[in-house]
Amino acid sequence: MKNKRIYLDHASSRPVLKEVFNFAKPYLMKKYGNPSSLYNLGLESQKALEEAREKIRFFINAENSKNIIFTDNATESNNIAIRGTAIRNLNDGKEIISSSIEHMSVINPMKDLQKNGWTYNQIPVDNFGFINYDKLNELLSKKTIVTSIMYANNEIGTIQPIKKISEIVHDKGKYLHVDASAAIGYLPVDVQRDDIDLLTFSSNDIYGPRGAGILYIKPGVKLQSIMPGGGQERGIKSGTENIFSIAGMGEASKIIKNEIKSESERLTIIRNKLIKEISKIDRAFLTGHPKKRLPGHVSFIFNNIEGESILLNMDMYNIQIATGSACSHKTLEPSHVLLEIGLKHEEAHGSMVMTLGKSNNIDQIPLIVKAVNDTVERLRKLSPL
Ligand code: PMP
Repeated sequence: MKNKRIYLDHASSRPVLKEVFNFAKPYLMKKYGNPSSLYNLGLESQKALEEAREKIRFFINAENSKNIIFTDNATESNNIAIRGTAIRNLNDGKEIISSSIEHMSVINPMKDLQKNGWTYNQIPVDNFGFINYDKLNELLSKKTIVTSIMYANNEIGTIQPIKKISEIVHDKGKYLHVDASAAIGYLPVDVQRDDIDLLTFSSNDIYGPRGAGILYIKPGVKLQSIMPGGGQERGIKSGTENIFSIAGMGEASKIIKNEIKSESERLTIIRNKLIKEISKIDRAFLTGHPKKRLPGHVSFIFNNIEGESILLNMDMYNIQIATGSACSHKTLEPSHVLLEIGLKHEEAHGSMVMTLGKSNNIDQIPLIVKAVNDTVERLRKLSPL
Protein backbone atom coordinates (compact mmCIF):
# COMPACT_ATOMS: atom_id res chain seq x y z
CA MET A 1 0.00 0.00 0.00
CA LYS A 2 1.21 3.47 -0.83
CA ASN A 3 2.04 5.87 2.04
CA LYS A 4 -0.22 8.82 2.63
CA ARG A 5 1.05 11.73 0.55
CA ILE A 6 3.71 13.94 2.15
CA TYR A 7 3.81 17.08 0.04
CA LEU A 8 7.08 19.01 0.31
CA ASP A 9 6.98 21.28 -2.73
CA HIS A 10 5.04 24.33 -1.53
CA ALA A 11 7.36 26.71 -3.41
CA SER A 12 6.00 25.46 -6.71
CA SER A 13 2.35 25.00 -5.77
CA ARG A 14 0.07 25.15 -2.76
CA PRO A 15 -3.47 23.89 -2.31
CA VAL A 16 -6.12 26.62 -2.06
CA LEU A 17 -7.45 26.91 1.51
CA LYS A 18 -11.02 25.70 1.92
CA GLU A 19 -12.07 28.99 3.60
CA VAL A 20 -10.54 30.87 0.67
CA PHE A 21 -12.42 28.80 -1.90
CA ASN A 22 -15.71 29.20 -0.03
CA PHE A 23 -15.17 32.94 0.20
CA ALA A 24 -14.37 33.38 -3.49
CA LYS A 25 -16.79 30.81 -4.98
CA PRO A 26 -19.74 33.21 -5.47
CA TYR A 27 -17.61 35.29 -7.86
CA LEU A 28 -17.56 32.45 -10.37
CA MET A 29 -21.25 31.75 -10.97
CA LYS A 30 -23.37 34.20 -8.99
CA LYS A 31 -21.54 37.50 -8.62
CA TYR A 32 -20.05 37.49 -12.09
CA GLY A 33 -20.45 41.19 -12.94
CA ASN A 34 -17.64 43.10 -14.59
CA PRO A 35 -16.28 45.57 -11.99
CA SER A 36 -16.30 48.30 -14.65
CA SER A 37 -20.08 47.95 -15.17
CA LEU A 38 -22.25 50.48 -13.36
CA TYR A 39 -25.28 48.29 -12.54
CA ASN A 40 -25.48 46.52 -9.21
CA LEU A 41 -23.95 43.24 -10.34
CA GLY A 42 -20.89 45.16 -11.52
CA LEU A 43 -20.70 47.30 -8.40
CA GLU A 44 -20.72 44.17 -6.30
CA SER A 45 -17.58 42.98 -8.10
CA GLN A 46 -16.05 46.43 -7.80
CA LYS A 47 -16.60 46.26 -4.05
CA ALA A 48 -14.98 42.80 -3.86
CA LEU A 49 -12.01 44.11 -5.80
CA GLU A 50 -11.50 47.04 -3.45
CA GLU A 51 -11.97 44.91 -0.35
CA ALA A 52 -9.27 42.53 -1.59
CA ARG A 53 -7.02 45.50 -2.28
CA GLU A 54 -7.45 46.74 1.27
CA LYS A 55 -6.68 43.27 2.69
CA ILE A 56 -3.45 43.11 0.67
CA ARG A 57 -2.54 46.66 1.71
CA PHE A 58 -2.90 45.64 5.34
CA PHE A 59 -0.98 42.38 4.73
CA ILE A 60 2.18 44.13 3.50
CA ASN A 61 1.62 47.45 5.32
CA ALA A 62 1.36 49.55 2.15
CA GLU A 63 0.57 53.27 2.53
CA ASN A 64 -2.70 53.12 0.63
CA SER A 65 -4.72 50.44 -1.15
CA LYS A 66 -4.21 52.49 -4.36
CA ASN A 67 -0.59 51.34 -4.23
CA ILE A 68 -1.60 47.73 -4.89
CA ILE A 69 -2.04 46.65 -8.52
CA PHE A 70 -3.60 43.29 -9.28
CA THR A 71 -1.90 41.22 -11.97
CA ASP A 72 -2.14 37.62 -13.13
CA ASN A 73 0.94 36.28 -11.29
CA ALA A 74 4.40 37.18 -9.97
CA THR A 75 5.98 36.74 -13.40
CA GLU A 76 3.73 39.46 -14.81
CA SER A 77 4.30 41.69 -11.77
CA ASN A 78 8.08 41.33 -12.12
CA ASN A 79 7.90 42.19 -15.82
CA ILE A 80 5.73 45.25 -15.21
CA ALA A 81 7.95 46.46 -12.34
CA ILE A 82 11.19 46.13 -14.29
CA ARG A 83 10.16 47.10 -17.81
CA GLY A 84 7.67 49.69 -16.57
CA THR A 85 10.21 51.63 -14.51
CA ALA A 86 13.09 51.18 -16.97
CA ILE A 87 11.06 52.55 -19.89
CA ARG A 88 9.31 55.34 -17.97
CA ASN A 89 12.57 56.71 -16.48
CA LEU A 90 14.64 56.41 -19.63
CA ASN A 91 15.72 60.04 -19.47
CA ASP A 92 17.32 59.58 -16.05
CA GLY A 93 19.50 56.64 -17.05
CA LYS A 94 19.59 53.26 -18.69
CA GLU A 95 21.20 51.11 -15.99
CA ILE A 96 19.54 48.16 -14.27
CA ILE A 97 20.83 45.70 -11.67
CA SER A 98 19.76 42.39 -10.17
CA SER A 99 21.37 39.73 -8.03
CA SER A 100 22.75 36.75 -9.94
CA ILE A 101 20.32 34.36 -8.20
CA GLU A 102 17.01 35.99 -9.12
CA HIS A 103 14.14 34.03 -10.59
CA MET A 104 14.07 33.95 -14.41
CA SER A 105 11.03 36.25 -14.39
CA VAL A 106 13.44 38.95 -13.18
CA ILE A 107 16.60 37.96 -15.07
CA ASN A 108 14.95 37.50 -18.47
CA PRO A 109 13.14 40.88 -18.65
CA MET A 110 16.45 42.51 -17.64
CA LYS A 111 18.30 40.59 -20.37
CA ASP A 112 15.64 41.73 -22.84
CA LEU A 113 16.22 45.35 -21.85
CA GLN A 114 19.96 44.75 -22.20
CA LYS A 115 19.42 43.66 -25.81
CA ASN A 116 17.62 46.96 -26.31
CA GLY A 117 20.45 49.15 -25.08
CA TRP A 118 20.20 49.13 -21.28
CA THR A 119 23.29 48.29 -19.19
CA TYR A 120 22.47 45.25 -17.05
CA ASN A 121 24.76 44.21 -14.20
CA GLN A 122 24.38 41.19 -11.94
CA ILE A 123 25.56 41.26 -8.33
CA PRO A 124 27.42 38.08 -7.37
CA VAL A 125 26.58 36.19 -4.18
CA ASP A 126 28.70 34.35 -1.61
CA ASN A 127 28.49 30.62 -0.82
CA PHE A 128 25.38 31.15 1.31
CA GLY A 129 23.67 33.24 -1.36
CA PHE A 130 24.07 36.68 0.28
CA ILE A 131 24.68 39.42 -2.24
CA ASN A 132 28.03 41.19 -2.32
CA TYR A 133 27.27 44.61 -0.82
CA ASP A 134 30.56 46.19 -1.95
CA LYS A 135 29.88 45.14 -5.53
CA LEU A 136 26.35 46.51 -5.30
CA ASN A 137 27.68 49.80 -4.01
CA GLU A 138 30.29 49.92 -6.75
CA LEU A 139 27.83 49.22 -9.59
CA LEU A 140 25.10 51.59 -8.44
CA SER A 141 25.03 55.06 -9.93
CA LYS A 142 22.64 57.96 -10.37
CA LYS A 143 21.69 56.32 -13.66
CA THR A 144 20.56 53.06 -12.01
CA ILE A 145 16.78 53.08 -12.38
CA VAL A 146 15.81 49.72 -10.93
CA THR A 147 17.67 47.24 -8.73
CA SER A 148 15.94 43.91 -8.18
CA ILE A 149 16.86 41.75 -5.19
CA MET A 150 14.65 38.90 -3.99
CA TYR A 151 13.49 38.80 -0.36
CA ALA A 152 14.49 35.16 -0.02
CA ASN A 153 15.66 32.59 -2.52
CA ASN A 154 13.26 29.82 -3.55
CA GLU A 155 16.02 27.25 -4.19
CA ILE A 156 18.36 27.72 -1.22
CA GLY A 157 16.09 29.52 1.26
CA THR A 158 18.58 32.28 2.14
CA ILE A 159 16.92 35.48 3.38
CA GLN A 160 18.54 38.73 2.21
CA PRO A 161 18.82 41.65 4.65
CA ILE A 162 16.40 43.75 2.60
CA LYS A 163 16.46 46.83 4.84
CA LYS A 164 20.25 47.06 4.56
CA ILE A 165 20.06 46.51 0.79
CA SER A 166 17.37 49.18 0.53
CA GLU A 167 19.70 51.69 2.24
CA ILE A 168 22.56 50.90 -0.15
CA VAL A 169 20.31 51.10 -3.22
CA HIS A 170 18.69 54.38 -2.21
CA ASP A 171 22.04 55.99 -1.49
CA LYS A 172 22.74 56.23 -5.22
CA GLY A 173 20.12 54.45 -7.29
CA LYS A 174 16.42 55.07 -7.80
CA TYR A 175 14.11 52.12 -7.18
CA LEU A 176 14.44 48.85 -5.26
CA HIS A 177 12.23 46.04 -6.59
CA VAL A 178 11.78 43.03 -4.33
CA ASP A 179 10.42 39.69 -5.53
CA ALA A 180 8.82 38.36 -2.34
CA SER A 181 7.36 35.19 -3.93
CA ALA A 182 9.45 32.78 -1.85
CA ALA A 183 9.24 34.74 1.41
CA ILE A 184 5.61 35.78 1.50
CA GLY A 185 3.54 33.90 4.05
CA TYR A 186 6.67 32.74 5.88
CA LEU A 187 8.04 36.16 6.89
CA PRO A 188 6.21 39.33 7.93
CA VAL A 189 6.77 41.46 4.83
CA ASP A 190 6.43 45.21 5.49
CA VAL A 191 7.12 47.54 2.57
CA GLN A 192 7.32 50.70 4.71
CA ARG A 193 9.61 49.23 7.38
CA ASP A 194 12.04 48.04 4.69
CA ASP A 195 11.57 51.05 2.39
CA ILE A 196 10.74 48.97 -0.69
CA ASP A 197 9.65 50.71 -3.91
CA LEU A 198 8.13 47.77 -5.78
CA LEU A 199 7.16 44.35 -4.45
CA THR A 200 5.67 41.26 -6.06
CA PHE A 201 4.16 37.86 -5.27
CA SER A 202 1.54 35.42 -6.58
CA SER A 203 -1.77 34.48 -4.97
CA ASN A 204 -0.80 30.81 -4.81
CA ASP A 205 2.24 31.70 -2.68
CA ILE A 206 -0.24 32.37 0.15
CA TYR A 207 -2.66 29.46 -0.54
CA GLY A 208 -4.88 31.57 -2.80
CA PRO A 209 -6.21 30.57 -6.24
CA ARG A 210 -3.87 30.74 -9.23
CA GLY A 211 -4.43 33.53 -11.72
CA ALA A 212 -3.74 36.50 -9.47
CA GLY A 213 -0.65 38.30 -8.27
CA ILE A 214 0.20 41.68 -6.84
CA LEU A 215 2.52 44.53 -7.63
CA TYR A 216 3.01 47.07 -4.86
CA ILE A 217 4.09 50.47 -6.17
CA LYS A 218 5.29 52.99 -3.57
CA PRO A 219 3.71 56.46 -3.85
CA GLY A 220 5.76 58.59 -6.24
CA VAL A 221 7.35 55.74 -8.22
CA LYS A 222 7.14 56.52 -11.92
CA LEU A 223 6.12 53.51 -13.95
CA GLN A 224 4.76 53.13 -17.45
CA SER A 225 2.12 50.59 -18.41
CA ILE A 226 3.37 47.74 -20.51
CA MET A 227 -0.20 46.49 -20.98
CA PRO A 228 -2.25 49.45 -22.23
CA GLY A 229 -5.92 48.80 -22.89
CA GLY A 230 -9.18 49.59 -21.11
CA GLY A 231 -7.44 51.35 -18.22
CA GLN A 232 -8.10 48.90 -15.38
CA GLU A 233 -5.68 48.84 -12.44
CA ARG A 234 -4.70 52.52 -12.87
CA GLY A 235 -4.00 51.77 -16.53
CA ILE A 236 -0.94 49.74 -15.49
CA LYS A 237 -2.51 46.33 -16.04
CA SER A 238 -5.49 46.63 -18.35
CA GLY A 239 -7.93 43.79 -18.88
CA THR A 240 -11.04 42.61 -17.03
CA GLU A 241 -10.08 41.64 -13.50
CA ASN A 242 -10.14 38.00 -12.34
CA ILE A 243 -12.42 38.64 -9.36
CA PHE A 244 -12.54 35.02 -8.19
CA SER A 245 -8.76 34.77 -7.81
CA ILE A 246 -8.32 38.33 -6.55
CA ALA A 247 -11.05 37.98 -3.89
CA GLY A 248 -9.54 34.63 -2.91
CA MET A 249 -6.04 36.12 -2.68
CA GLY A 250 -7.34 38.94 -0.45
CA GLU A 251 -9.03 36.48 1.90
CA ALA A 252 -5.95 34.24 1.91
CA SER A 253 -3.77 37.20 2.93
CA LYS A 254 -6.10 37.92 5.87
CA ILE A 255 -5.89 34.32 7.12
CA ILE A 256 -2.14 33.96 6.56
CA LYS A 257 -1.31 37.27 8.28
CA ASN A 258 -2.84 36.02 11.50
CA GLU A 259 -0.87 32.78 11.34
CA ILE A 260 2.58 33.85 10.14
CA LYS A 261 4.26 33.89 13.54
CA SER A 262 2.93 30.60 14.90
CA GLU A 263 3.20 28.78 11.57
CA SER A 264 6.79 29.96 11.02
CA GLU A 265 7.78 28.81 14.49
CA ARG A 266 6.15 25.43 13.88
CA LEU A 267 7.83 24.98 10.50
CA THR A 268 11.23 26.07 11.83
CA ILE A 269 11.17 23.19 14.31
CA ILE A 270 10.37 20.65 11.56
CA ARG A 271 12.93 22.24 9.23
CA ASN A 272 15.72 22.09 11.82
CA LYS A 273 15.02 18.45 12.62
CA LEU A 274 14.99 17.51 8.93
CA ILE A 275 18.25 19.37 8.32
CA LYS A 276 19.88 17.68 11.30
CA GLU A 277 18.84 14.18 10.20
CA ILE A 278 19.57 14.59 6.48
CA SER A 279 22.98 16.13 7.23
CA LYS A 280 23.99 12.74 8.69
CA ILE A 281 23.88 11.14 5.23
CA ASP A 282 27.31 10.62 3.73
CA ARG A 283 28.30 13.40 1.27
CA ALA A 284 25.10 15.40 1.87
CA PHE A 285 25.60 19.17 1.95
CA LEU A 286 23.11 21.81 3.03
CA THR A 287 22.72 24.63 0.51
CA GLY A 288 21.95 28.19 1.63
CA HIS A 289 22.49 29.62 5.10
CA PRO A 290 21.86 27.24 8.03
CA LYS A 291 20.02 29.86 10.13
CA LYS A 292 19.13 32.88 7.99
CA ARG A 293 16.85 30.76 5.84
CA LEU A 294 13.10 30.46 5.27
CA PRO A 295 11.28 28.65 8.09
CA GLY A 296 10.00 25.92 5.78
CA HIS A 297 13.05 25.45 3.60
CA VAL A 298 15.31 22.38 3.46
CA SER A 299 17.77 22.13 0.56
CA PHE A 300 20.65 19.74 0.03
CA ILE A 301 22.98 18.47 -2.61
CA PHE A 302 24.08 14.84 -2.66
CA ASN A 303 27.28 13.98 -4.47
CA ASN A 304 27.23 11.46 -7.30
CA ILE A 305 23.49 11.32 -7.89
CA GLU A 306 20.97 13.20 -10.03
CA GLY A 307 18.26 15.43 -8.60
CA GLU A 308 15.72 14.17 -11.14
CA SER A 309 16.28 10.60 -9.96
CA ILE A 310 15.95 11.68 -6.31
CA LEU A 311 12.64 13.36 -7.15
CA LEU A 312 11.26 10.30 -8.96
CA ASN A 313 12.44 7.90 -6.26
CA MET A 314 10.93 10.03 -3.50
CA ASP A 315 7.66 10.02 -5.45
CA MET A 316 7.59 6.23 -5.08
CA TYR A 317 7.25 6.89 -1.33
CA ASN A 318 4.50 9.36 -2.21
CA ILE A 319 6.71 12.25 -1.11
CA GLN A 320 6.87 15.22 -3.49
CA ILE A 321 10.06 17.27 -3.52
CA ALA A 322 11.77 19.57 -6.05
CA THR A 323 15.19 19.64 -7.59
CA GLY A 324 16.82 22.92 -8.59
CA SER A 325 14.33 25.34 -10.02
CA ALA A 326 10.81 23.98 -10.39
CA CYS A 327 10.24 26.51 -13.13
CA SER A 328 13.24 25.65 -15.30
CA HIS A 329 13.59 21.88 -14.80
CA LYS A 330 12.59 21.34 -18.41
CA THR A 331 15.98 22.63 -19.55
CA LEU A 332 17.97 19.93 -17.69
CA GLU A 333 20.62 22.59 -17.14
CA PRO A 334 21.86 22.79 -13.55
CA SER A 335 20.23 25.57 -11.61
CA HIS A 336 21.92 28.96 -12.09
CA VAL A 337 21.40 29.59 -8.37
CA LEU A 338 23.50 26.58 -7.36
CA LEU A 339 26.24 27.49 -9.83
CA GLU A 340 26.27 31.07 -8.53
CA ILE A 341 26.79 29.94 -4.91
CA GLY A 342 29.93 28.21 -6.13
CA LEU A 343 28.93 24.63 -6.83
CA LYS A 344 30.41 22.74 -9.75
CA HIS A 345 28.11 21.55 -12.56
CA GLU A 346 28.22 17.94 -11.41
CA GLU A 347 27.50 18.92 -7.80
CA ALA A 348 24.60 21.18 -8.75
CA HIS A 349 22.90 18.26 -10.53
CA GLY A 350 22.39 16.39 -7.24
CA SER A 351 20.04 18.90 -5.64
CA MET A 352 16.98 18.28 -3.51
CA VAL A 353 14.66 21.05 -2.33
CA MET A 354 11.89 20.58 0.25
CA THR A 355 9.52 23.47 0.95
CA LEU A 356 7.21 22.85 3.88
CA GLY A 357 3.71 24.10 4.45
CA LYS A 358 0.47 23.66 6.34
CA SER A 359 0.04 19.95 5.60
CA ASN A 360 3.39 19.02 7.15
CA ASN A 361 3.89 17.98 10.74
CA ILE A 362 6.56 16.65 13.04
CA ASP A 363 5.27 13.06 12.81
CA GLN A 364 6.23 12.93 9.13
CA ILE A 365 9.94 13.40 9.88
CA PRO A 366 10.92 9.73 10.34
CA LEU A 367 9.19 8.72 7.09
CA ILE A 368 10.81 11.57 5.15
CA VAL A 369 14.28 10.85 6.55
CA LYS A 370 13.98 7.14 5.83
CA ALA A 371 12.82 7.82 2.27
CA VAL A 372 15.77 10.17 1.66
CA ASN A 373 18.25 7.69 3.16
CA ASP A 374 16.91 4.77 1.12
CA THR A 375 16.75 6.86 -2.04
CA VAL A 376 20.31 8.13 -1.76
CA GLU A 377 21.64 4.67 -0.95
CA ARG A 378 19.79 3.05 -3.87
CA LEU A 379 20.85 5.69 -6.37
CA ARG A 380 24.47 5.63 -5.28
CA LYS A 381 24.57 1.86 -5.76
CA LEU A 382 23.30 2.35 -9.32
CA SER A 383 25.52 5.35 -10.05
CA PRO A 384 28.45 4.81 -12.43
CA LEU A 385 30.17 7.67 -10.54
N1 PMP B 1 9.74 34.49 -8.25
C1 PMP B 1 10.07 33.44 -7.50
C2 PMP B 1 11.13 33.59 -6.45
C3 PMP B 1 9.46 32.19 -7.72
O1 PMP B 1 9.81 31.12 -6.98
C4 PMP B 1 8.48 32.08 -8.73
C5 PMP B 1 7.83 30.76 -9.00
N2 PMP B 1 7.10 30.29 -7.91
C6 PMP B 1 8.14 33.24 -9.46
C7 PMP B 1 8.82 34.42 -9.21
C8 PMP B 1 7.12 33.21 -10.54
O2 PMP B 1 5.86 32.97 -10.01
P1 PMP B 1 4.64 32.66 -10.99
O3 PMP B 1 4.98 31.40 -11.72
O4 PMP B 1 3.48 32.51 -10.06
O5 PMP B 1 4.49 33.79 -11.92
